[in-house]
Amino acid sequence: MEIHARLRRTYETKNTVNSTPRIGSTTISCDVLVIGGGAAGVAAATAAGHAGAQVVLLERYGFLGGLATTAQVGTICGLYLRDTTGAQATPVAGGFANEFSSRLQSDSGTKPLCVDSGLWVLPYSPPIFARVADAIVSESGNVTVILHATVAEARAEDSRMNLVCALAWNEPLNFSPKAVVDCTGEATAAALAGANAENGATDQSPALVFVLENVDPGLVERGLLEVRRELRRAVEDGSLPAICERLALVPGTGTNGRLALKLSLFPANPDRALWQQVTDWERESRALLEPLHRFLIGNVAAFRNSRLDSVAPQLGVRSGRRILGRARLADEQVLDARKSPMGIARGCWPMERWGKSPRPEMTYFAERDYYDIPLDCLRPVELDNVLVAGRCLSAETGAMTSARVIGTALATGWAAGTAAAFQAAGRPLDDAVAQIRRQMS
Ligand SMILES: Cc1cc2nc3c(=O)[nH]c(=O)nc-3n(C[C@H](O)[C@H](O)[C@H](O)COP(=O)(O)OP(=O)(O)OC[C@H]3O[C@@H](n4cnc5c(N)ncnc54)[C@H](O)[C@@H]3O)c2cc1C
Repeated sequence: MEIHARLRRTYETKNTVNSTPRIGSTTISCDVLVIGGGAAGVAAATAAGHAGAQVVLLERYGFLGGLATTAQVGTICGLYLRDTTGAQATPVAGGFANEFSSRLQSDSGTKPLCVDSGLWVLPYSPPIFARVADAIVSESGNVTVILHATVAEARAEDSRMNLVCALAWNEPLNFSPKAVVDCTGEATAAALAGANAENGATDQSPALVFVLENVDPGLVERGLLEVRRELRRAVEDGSLPAICERLALVPGTGTNGRLALKLSLFPANPDRALWQQVTDWERESRALLEPLHRFLIGNVAAFRNSRLDSVAPQLGVRSGRRILGRARLADEQVLDARKSPMGIARGCWPMERWGKSPRPEMTYFAERDYYDIPLDCLRPVELDNVLVAGRCLSAETGAMTSARVIGTALATGWAAGTAAAFQAAGRPLDDAVAQIRRQMS
């Protein structure tokens, strides 16, 4: 309530010199500031709200969900243990990720699907993901959501982030938080405030998701073998560029004729700034859709009557900047399914690296098992009142190709939001860890 009143005052600020209305700026205090409303941010804001903190959630787009909705990735991985023998999906942990996915299932009428090598995923509809995220955040109480709010500055003093500046629908807003959870997917606020980070942009390739309607539903059962053969031929004779061979299905789509496809590009060029690279990727991949679709219509019977239904509003960038934390999730911790007494989230997805080849490189660990992510992987070395969650936590390259998935992002987000609420209330982090671990099991 108080935050809303202060927000209203921003618009009332006037420049007294010429009585000309002028954009003002105001500083809003809160217990926990969550930056980024993707899977991790939604979980973090909900957790902090549940813990009784006064929370503000900032998101640069007009809806929640992050890559789950903007890049329309279409399936949640990391919710269920890998199991080549079981007939049912077994959740890796209790707690928020489980509650979120149950809500998503009942609202969207989907159920877990076993895709390959005992891996279970939950297909979802992106607009329903955004709706569920919005409802869950609102129900937690104490969370003020500010959409179209982009953070462009963050400052720290005495190892504490004490000022964050955003443009909210092009109005400047300043925030003075007791604790911050950076869920930007790029560790943006932490890096702006001076935390050391590493650039993972060259680790993995991005992809553009698009949906075709009126595709022969039999294609899903037959698989993409015929499509790949035709695409290879076209690439070899020069009628399509090499990227077109990197087309993949989004599991769980297509049985009703609406088929989501993922066109993976090549990993970032290390010599180009990421903003330049992303601009090129967006433009080149979108320009390719028309010739690619025309080719499919003309050469693969299943697509003969298909139409382009939609294209994801944003290219899906799989990996970006991540912090160098007080602990770094190592590749061996993932592959040995290692547990930790400070574990605050469980990862169960294999390492899945989308590199230069058309298919991902999968590295599995023991089935029906999981690894722990210790709290210190969410804590930048330089900042005491900041946690990160989701795909910008501290991890080695291989470990991140596992820990970045949506199910795990929901889990690390919940943990970071809970820990931030404890920090804001001056309570020990060990107590937060104990509470999170009780909720997981
Ligand atoms: C092509 C592709 C396919 C994938 N397939 C799957 C899959 O099938 N299953 C799966 O589980 N995972 C998949 N993933 C991985 C998964 O989607 C992401 O790793 C996960 O969604 C990350 O969640 P997050 O909350 O950490 O970050 P994000 O989803 O990136 O959320 C970050 C949020 O912060 C906001 N933000 C960023 N900067 C600012 C700022 N300065 N100010 C305010 N807001 C800001 C963004 O708008 C966004 O909403 C895929 C990823 C890609 C790219």
